[in-house]
Amino acid sequence: MHYSWPRYVRQIFILLLVSTGLGFYFGQPLWGLLAALGLYLCWTLTQTRKLYQWLNGPDTGQEPPQSIGLWGDLFDALHRLQQQHLHTRDRLQAEVNRVQESTNAMRDGVIMTDAQGVLEWWNGSAEYLLGFRRQTDRGQFIHNLIRAPAFKSYFDRADYREALEINSPSKPHLHLQIQISLFADNDRLIVAKDVTRLFQLEQMRRDFVGNVSHEMRTPLTVISGYLETLVDHAEELPPKWRRAIHTMAQQSARMEALITDLILLSRLETDEHISDDAVTDISGLIEDIHHDAQALSGEKHHEFTVEVDPGAYLHGDESQLRSAFSNLIFNAVKYTPAGGRIAIRWSTDRQGAHLSVSDTGMGIDPVHIPRLTERFYRADPSRHQDTGGTGLGLAIVKHVLLNHDGKLEIRSDMGKGSEFICHFPRERIAESPYEPEDFI
Ligand code: ADP
Repeated sequence: MHYSWPRYVRQIFILLLVSTGLGFYFGQPLWGLLAALGLYLCWTLTQTRKLYQWLNGPDTGQEPPQSIGLWGDLFDALHRLQQQHLHTRDRLQAEVNRVQESTNAMRDGVIMTDAQGVLEWWNGSAEYLLGFRRQTDRGQFIHNLIRAPAFKSYFDRADYREALEINSPSKPHLHLQIQISLFADNDRLIVAKDVTRLFQLEQMRRDFVGNVSHEMRTPLTVISGYLETLVDHAEELPPKWRRAIHTMAQQSARMEALITDLILLSRLETDEHISDDAVTDISGLIEDIHHDAQALSGEKHHEFTVEVDPGAYLHGDESQLRSAFSNLIFNAVKYTPAGGRIAIRWSTDRQGAHLSVSDTGMGIDPVHIPRLTERFYRADPSRHQDTGGTGLGLAIVKHVLLNHDGKLEIRSDMGKGSEFICHFPRERIAESPYEPEDFI
């Protein structure tokens, strides 16, 4: 039965009144009152002890102690609260179990770590893909288990817009795509996807293109050689053959350029990251390309401006950088009408180094810009037939920049011109490799 609070007070008051009345009857009202208070104190202490033992008992679901009055109601209310709490806990536990079971059933590895990389939880696929062991690895640093330096720098960078690809530390034949997300207090949720099959297909595609290009190079060189000889002796040929031989020579030269670019592209794809040891003299390189660009410009008389600090050096592969920069600068020449302006500018700031190639040419419709670096993608195929391009130039630029941790930015205004900017990170900027006395 539930009592209201004033009723508890009334009961105590009646008890005290009765005991004082009894004391009064025996001529000792004070002793009567004290006896009642003493009894009440003993009762309260007994109930408190029961409460203490119940609350600290080993079995949290145990029935509450039996009592009456205020204490009985308190026990019942606490028991109700305890039951509610247990119920909520069971429900939450069931939900956590369900989430863990479904995550466990995933084919992708899922790992949770704190901000420093201490392993907190992972699913079954993570055990298979990364070789984590449930008994020993909880609480370990993830960097002790995934030792690839690329993973460490990816984890620390905290910029997870792009995924990282690495080989599995426990099964090197597996190729994994790692994607990290931040949650809660900078904790990390790491998803490892097995992309071995895709990787192998991609590898096969690269090998195929590389091999075919190599195999085609020799017969093509022979055909081109003979065609060149025929062109040189064109006047000895019957007139109706001359035009045909000329076109054949032109097309075989185009095919040779295509094959050279394909071979270069497949080499760039396999070279991957460029070591930091090689240092390229940017001013010398741009000077060379500028000369070639002037020759290519020929009759079109473009107006060139070159702004490069003579002390500009970059950690990177000179031949790759030459391919990338010359593709951009030659494109500016190809796609800018006669008399147009072409500006080549090298600059450095807190973000890194930047090579900008801008022109006052025909420009590019913005819809094409995101796809320009795809192989053989052309903004407007009809107007490029006479430029003699292979359609691989910007794909080469993109790969060279990828190999140098850089990025290509393309800006363009239709009819006004275009600007292609190669951005390199600060770490790639190099000091001059020569000592001052080398120049004396
Ligand atoms: P291509 O051999 O056709 O020049 P690229 O890969 O070098 O191939 O360039 C891809 C396309 O980007 C070109 O076909 C052209 O449409 C466009 N493009 C590249 N550079 C410029 C530029 N400076 N001005 C206008 N369009 C350009």
